[in-house]
Amino acid sequence: MAGDVSFLDGVNRMFDRAAAVLDLEPGLTEQIKLGKGVYQVRFPVRVNGGIRVFTGWRAVHSEHRLPTKGGIRFAPFVDQDEVEALAALMTFKCAVANVPFGGAKGGLRVDPREHGDEEMDRITRRFARELIAKGFISPALNVPAPDMGTGAQEMAWIADTYREQFPNDINAIACVTGKPPTQGGVSGRVEATGRGVQFALREFFRHSTDVSEAGLDGDLAGKRIVVQGLGNVGFHAARGMSEEDGARIVAIIERDGALIDDKGLPVDAVAEHLARHGGLEGFPGARFVADGRSVLEADCDILIPAALERQITQENAGRICAPLIAEAANGPVTWDADRILKQRGRVMIPDVFLNAGGVIVSYFEWIKNISHIRFGRIDRRFDETRGEAMLSALEMNGDRSVPDALRSRIVRGADELDLIRSGLDDTMRLAYQAIREIRQRYDEVDDLRTAAYVLAIEKIAGTYREMGL
Ligand code: NAD
Repeated sequence: MAGDVSFLDGVNRMFDRAAAVLDLEPGLTEQIKLGKGVYQVRFPVRVNGGIRVFTGWRAVHSEHRLPTKGGIRFAPFVDQDEVEALAALMTFKCAVANVPFGGAKGGLRVDPREHGDEEMDRITRRFARELIAKGFISPALNVPAPDMGTGAQEMAWIADTYREQFPNDINAIACVTGKPPTQGGVSGRVEATGRGVQFALREFFRHSTDVSEAGLDGDLAGKRIVVQGLGNVGFHAARGMSEEDGARIVAIIERDGALIDDKGLPVDAVAEHLARHGGLEGFPGARFVADGRSVLEADCDILIPAALERQITQENAGRICAPLIAEAANGPVTWDADRILKQRGRVMIPDVFLNAGGVIVSYFEWIKNISHIRFGRIDRRFDETRGEAMLSALEMNGDRSVPDALRSRIVRGADELDLIRSGLDDTMRLAYQAIREIRQRYDEVDDLRTAAYVLAIEKIAGTYREMGL
């Protein structure tokens, strides 16, 4: 990574490259680019028989729309630069995906693997209280979600902490998304980011000119995919594409090394092994390579970094073989690597679009929470009755009955998961099409990342102009 600019500098340079395409007043460009502020907090918690002081951050990048939205990550090396960079990405991601939120992000410097559930409960609640006290968690202003090292359990603890402090707030549960379904969460949130990656790649492969630009053809079927990080995002993306699209997951890279199998790895079984043993080594029937990082350079059709930022740098960008890099993680390709990969004709589907599935479904969860009703509750039975009536009408006039498989598709009313997946698919498709339109509109925009940033900046500038700065 030596020589690569910092994560935040990299995001700012990507922003500058896109802003140069647009003819905005300089002050407006600055307002869109610069983060609003960042809150740093230190607090003590009794853990492992002693007192430990933890450091955390919540950065708010843009409040052009409220609430601001962005995950909270728990990781041993998280720092302010990273949290600010991720908050900026959230602003642009929400704009690209047409989610009416501003951008934010939180981070706590902690290694969850060092603490049991009871300690993590105490640490999470204390961090939440610190953020709530300063207005950095609120259903109307700032709504966190899961990220690296956090999931539904941590979100349930945060929601409960907020509710304790504001029992009169009827929308209290909307203070955080990614909650368990029994605690106000929405079906399909856990899988959302990975599914979004799958839906986005399906859309990419619907555009043959884009596919041939990457030197590929056809669709996802038979494509050889390397995935880095079999966590929430990587697992759901890999499983969806291998089970439903016929793609082959030829390598999975984790912390302790990588598994390789040209015939395709069984994603569920690998995930089970990882959960049980804490690493990939020892998984039967596949080759294990201890130097996992080197497998990023493996021969494949699609490389999906889905672990963490700054994995493809100027050090290894020249050796990446994959013609298509799908950025499921945030910031996996540094600014310097981005330029090298571009020069080498590699196509990158950028993070600000590709991993938007999480925030899209978080938006649906927030809507569910403030409307206090599950999706599909009112209309599911009505749709079923109408489907039955349509079938009867068809069969009355024809001499053949409708086959059973088709019958159940016509008759079934959509439940919450159906609606969430359909809304996610639609949003990802429309966002990709909007990015393509930008590439067509501006001659100087010759990559998807710049196009996505231009799209975001145009939309945010429009919002500021309309509301008056
Ligand atoms: P996670 O903690 O569930 O999974 C991360 C996985 O990466 C883990 O299995 C971990 O062991 C592995 N990993 C960590 N360091 C590694 C390394 N050096 N090499 C290989 N593997 C490594 O996290 P997640 O929620 O899946 O997030 C992954 C990425 O996706 C992050 O960049 C995050 O910001 C981004 N993201 C997540 C969401 C979401 O909804 N969870 C949404 C948008 C973006």
